[in-house]
Amino acid sequence: MRAFADPTEILLRTKVVERFLSYVRLDTQSDEASATCPSTAKQLELGRQLAAELTSLGLSGVGEASPSMDANGYVLAELSGNAPGRIGLCAHIDTAPQFTGTGVSPRVHERYGGGPIEVGEGIVIDPTETAELAECVGDAIITTDGRTLLGADDKSGIAAIMGALEILVAEPSLRRPTVRVCFNPDEEIGRGANRFPLERFDCPVAFTADGGFTGEINLETFSADKAVITLTGVSVHPGTAKGKMVNALTYAGKLLASLPMAESPECTEGRDGFFHPVNISGDAAACRIQLILRDFDTAVLKERGRRLEALCAALRAEEPRLGVRLEVTEQYRNMHDVLSGHPETAALLERAVRAAGIAPNLKPIRGGTDGSRLTAMGMPTPNLFAGGVNFHGPAEWISTRVLAQSTCAILNLVQLYGERG
Ligand SMILES: [Zn+2]
Repeated sequence: MRAFADPTEILLRTKVVERFLSYVRLDTQSDEASATCPSTAKQLELGRQLAAELTSLGLSGVGEASPSMDANGYVLAELSGNAPGRIGLCAHIDTAPQFTGTGVSPRVHERYGGGPIEVGEGIVIDPTETAELAECVGDAIITTDGRTLLGADDKSGIAAIMGALEILVAEPSLRRPTVRVCFNPDEEIGRGANRFPLERFDCPVAFTADGGFTGEINLETFSADKAVITLTGVSVHPGTAKGKMVNALTYAGKLLASLPMAESPECTEGRDGFFHPVNISGDAAACRIQLILRDFDTAVLKERGRRLEALCAALRAEEPRLGVRLEVTEQYRNMHDVLSGHPETAALLERAVRAAGIAPNLKPIRGGTDGSRLTAMGMPTPNLFAGGVNFHGPAEWISTRVLAQSTCAILNLVQLYGERG
């Protein structure tokens, strides 16, 4: 294999930066309140542009002649291999609903000198607070102008994949399996996997380029359950309530107070899980508490459900007239549960990053990704860095060197799968 470890080569030979700058200028913000797919029609504009770019790169379609976007806004393309096997490369088109993506005006700061970067609108990125920036002295840094997010999440992933395709097309002697690409809408609102054309894509393994700074690899996400507790009291006029009323709100308060504070999101980090009440509604007669339960260890997560049931049982014992119902439903599972059965996937991804001259930084994600859902749906899909930092806000930035490093890692990964056959 020819190890790609020089980001400068990628910056000189491909249009990764030019592509990235054109992608971020298009507003592709997704919308949780929308019922359509994609959630916003504006995502289709970038989708069409990507299908056209993949076509002009000379890629073919998946099950059709040319790269195309399906009715749900998923862009599919294929680069046929010169070795057996198939792998998928994925990135998402949308940007986060949390901050505006309208009128993104990227600023390129050539040869970063090491000090704080004044982005605009009072936004400053300071290397003493953002340690990654201190590692980027001499790089070209792309920021916003302070009014919008940048959208490196995940347009850097799209650009990094496109850069890798450019090199693979230019160098047909590089040993590669068939590479299938999917750029999907609505990851940021948790729907990226919903209409993923999994059967058509038909890859035994895929990788999302949707991670952060250089070297980041995500093989683990939370396992997640949702819990709903419904409390039903006895409603009586308060003037004549003595000995009769059972106030659902009083017991809701007791239940919330009995949750272990040390196992809340605000008191946990790293590999610790939590109970997190997210919503309460109702009145003295009846009320409903919604919680989310999170843990990396799925067995410990299930234990959280049982502990919640024990708290509910304690309320029933204290007040037998109170109705207490608990419903726990699965949201998503740690992709490690499946990936642990495919140790070669993680090993090849780590080798690809090392071959790019970078130390892999294995980070469990305290959340879920499209990859955790796709993995559970049968396609193991770990996540690889795409370079961005400070996602979802106006201080978002990326170093073009790190963007090109992501392309290097992808190229190494494709070749490792080509060798493996
Ligand atoms: Zn993302």
